[in-house]
Amino acid sequence: MTEDYPRTLFELEKRFSSDGTCRAYLFALRWPEGWTCPRCGGRNAWAVRRNLWRCGACRYETSVIAGTIFQDSHLPLTTWFRAMWQVTCQKSGVSALGLQRVLGLGSYKTAWAMLHKLRRAMVRPGRDRLRGVVEVDETYWGAEEKGVIGRLTKGKALIIVGAEEDGKGIGRIRLRRILDLTKPSLHGFILQAIQPGSTVRTDGLPAYMGLEGYVHDRQVQRHQPEGEHLLPLVHRVVSLLKRWLLGTHQGAVGHEHLDYYLDEFTFRFNRRKSASRGKLFYRLVQQAVLVDPAPFATLIKPQSLGGGGVK
Ligand SMILES: [Zn+2]
Repeated sequence: MTEDYPRTLFELEKRFSSDGTCRAYLFALRWPEGWTCPRCGGRNAWAVRRNLWRCGACRYETSVIAGTIFQDSHLPLTTWFRAMWQVTCQKSGVSALGLQRVLGLGSYKTAWAMLHKLRRAMVRPGRDRLRGVVEVDETYWGAEEKGVIGRLTKGKALIIVGAEEDGKGIGRIRLRRILDLTKPSLHGFILQAIQPGSTVRTDGLPAYMGLEGYVHDRQVQRHQPEGEHLLPLVHRVVSLLKRWLLGTHQGAVGHEHLDYYLDEFTFRFNRRKSASRGKLFYRLVQQAVLVDPAPFATLIKPQSLGGGGVK
């Protein structure tokens, strides 16, 4: 399928005015080679009832939204499509309150849950790791505390950031929350986010030492001229991240959901040079039919932290 997406809100409204056209679009993105049975891989199916397909081989019945983030939603797909447009068409995304208003949703909770489900679709399964020269550094998110010295993390969330060097600019980024500044946490992130063989540039924090499989470019703090940073790429990413969290989301982001906001920030940042906002919409819909459903109970459950699982 060639990349086929609406370019403007007008095109979106015109094209996706019924659940049928939304379903056809999801179908083409989920099964670009034609219908495939999620259970046995069979390729032949016939339509039984409305929106339901039965596998010719194993008789399993499924719909285009079963097994995707749209599963079990009471909202029409036309509403989902508008939500995905709102999330992707604006440079800074949209808050739950903003989405509730613009779509006329009955409750804040509905808007909040929609955005969280969409964030699950912002990380592409099996995405490529960063490569080349990559800066890695940490930052904090949370209440400013007086009297806390150094790298203590009480009451704050610790975020680790990887940023690829791209000429004088920034290439792609990866962010995630980590539990502490120990060697397993830091090295675990590097292994997960950065292709072995790459050059990893860090500050002088001892826990970064002993990095295996990478070229370690350790920048030891000397006298920094005013306004200059040891790791300027990460510094820029962090200031953009904080501006976004404080601006679009007014700082109302709890630690337990922070990783999903980091995913959304990364999704948008890594596509910031995309010529068309419609292309972001296309990517989001494409990934939304590839990731597993996220029932409400899993949205409010605290996330596990610092594990080695690939996200
Ligand atoms: Zn089957």
